[in-house]
Amino acid sequence: TKLKVGLLFGGRSGEHEVSIASARSIAQALSDPANVEKYDLMPFYIQKDGQWRSPDIARSVLESGALECDDQATNLWKFPIEAEQVDVWFPILHGPNGEDGTIQGLLTLMQKPFVGSGVMGSAVGMDKIAMKMAFAEVGLPQVKYLAVSRAEVYSNPCVFPKLCDRIESELGYPCFVKPANLGSSVGISKVRTRAELEAALDSAASYDRRIIVEAGVVAREVEVAVLGNDQAKASVVGEITFDSDFYDYETKYTAGKSSHTIPANLPDEVVSLIQERALQAFHAIDCAGLSRVDFFYVESTGEVLINEINTLPGFTATSMYPMMWAASGIPYPELVDRLIQLALEQ
Ligand code: ADP
Ligand code: MG
Ligand code: MG
Repeated sequence: TKLKVGLLFGGRSGEHEVSIASARSIAQALSDPANVEKYDLMPFYIQKDGQWRSPDIARSVLESGALECDDQATNLWKFPIEAEQVDVWFPILHGPNGEDGTIQGLLTLMQKPFVGSGVMGSAVGMDKIAMKMAFAEVGLPQVKYLAVSRAEVYSNPCVFPKLCDRIESELGYPCFVKPANLGSSVGISKVRTRAELEAALDSAASYDRRIIVEAGVVAREVEVAVLGNDQAKASVVGEITFDSDFYDYETKYTAGKSSHTIPANLPDEVVSLIQERALQAFHAIDCAGLSRVDFFYVESTGEVLINEINTLPGFTATSMYPMMWAASGIPYPELVDRLIQLALEQ
C-alpha cells in the first residue's frame, strides 16, 4: 500500500509565500511516475494566521499558488481530521513557526515520522546566537559577533550608548545587525555609522528579543547542501552573486537581481573544506535529513567562515538546495523520495 505523505506548508511566517512555492514543486515531484507508485499526497495548508486547512483547500492552494484565508476561525488547535491518516509528514515551512522546532515538536508528539531535523536541530539552527555558540564550540571559524538583548536596546539612556561603544570597539564598521530568529534577510541592516547602528538596533529589537551584531566581511557567498542522517553527505558547492550592497530580501526574491553558479569556481581544497565544515555544522546541532549550509569565502586570505545553517531551505525546483543536488547527480523527484525515506529511517 502507498504511504500517505502529509505535505505541510504555508505557515505563520514572513516566508509564507516561499513555502507555497516550495510545496508546489514537491507536490509535482510526488506525481512523478516513480513516486506515484509509492506515495499518496495529502497536503495541509497553514494560513498566515496559523489555522490549519484541509487537504481539499490545500490542494486548491497548490493548484492556484494563491493564499487562502478564512478569518472566521477562532480555534487554531483544530486540526483537519485527515491528519490522522498521515503516515509520514513533510513540513516545508520556512522561518518562525515551522523551521524553528515548533512544528517539529508537534509532529514528535503526534508520533509520526517527519522529514528534516527534530526540535533541537531546528531550534538551534533558527536562532543565530545559539547557532553561532554551537559552531564556536566545535571550532568552526566564523565572524566576530556580539549577542544583544532587546532589554539592552530599550534600556535607560546611560546603558544604550555603552552598548554602542562596545559594538564599535569590538566589531567596528561596517557591521550587520540582525534579529536572531528570522530568515530571508528580514530585519537585517548593514551599518556604517553610529546613527545607523542605533537605528538598526532599534529596528531589530522590533522583530526579536534576541539580536546579533556581526563584524562585516568582504567575501564570496558560497553554499552547500547536506543530505542524510548519521551518514550525511555534502553536495557540490554553489555560489551566489549580486550587485546590491548585501544579499537582502529584495535581492533574494526579485528575478534577475542575483545569480548563481553551480558548481562554484573554487580550488578543490576550498571545496573540500566547505563540504567538511558543512557536515561538522550539521552534526554539531544534531540536524537530520537536510540542511543548506552557507559560508563566506574570503578570497584574499583563503578563510572559509560559516555564516549560517538553514534546516528547511527554499525547496522550489530553482532553489539552491535542490539545484546543488541536481548538479551532484540527484534529480529533484529522487531528492524528495530520499528525504521521505530518511524520515522513515530515523
Ligand atoms: P538570513 O538568515 O536572513 O539569510 P544571513 O545571516 O544569512 O541572514 O544574512 C543575510 C545576508 O546578509 C547574507 O547573505 C550576506 O549577504 C549579508 N551578511 C550577513 N552577515 C554578514 C557579515 N557578517 N558580513 C558580510 N555580509 C553579511
Ligand atoms: Mg537563514
Ligand atoms: Mg542567509
